[in-house]
Amino acid sequence: MDRDETLRRLDQLAAQFDEMVDASVSSNADDEHDPEGSTIAFERSQLDALIRQARQHLDEVDAAADRITDGTYGACQTCGRPIPVERLEARPVARTCIGCAAVRPAAPAGSHIRTHGRDGTVPSA
Ligand SMILES: [Zn+2]
Repeated sequence: MDRDETLRRLDQLAAQFDEMVDASVSSNADDEHDPEGSTIAFERSQLDALIRQARQHLDEVDAAADRITDGTYGACQTCGRPIPVERLEARPVARTCIGCAAVRPAAPAGSHIRTHGRDGTVPSA
């Protein structure tokens, strides 16, 4: 795993979500003048969901950057095994391998789920 490449990808990901939120906010402003008022509430709720997702993803990106810093990036946080490169390419912020992801959703940022490190050591964070 090339560290610089990963960091660049995470930066791009964060930038994409920033743009998406900006675009959503401006399109929401336009909706104020939409004569089809009945769609506004629906679009607002869609927008809220998009922004929540974007923020959640930014949290994931931040968490991934932290893992790069502390050297745990690319290791499954549930079973400790390496996450396959193909999965990291498809989902750079993945915290778990496919097997563990299928069992339950990825833990939220700051979760206490990582109680053991790759080598059985307890992380200080
Ligand atoms: Zn796993």
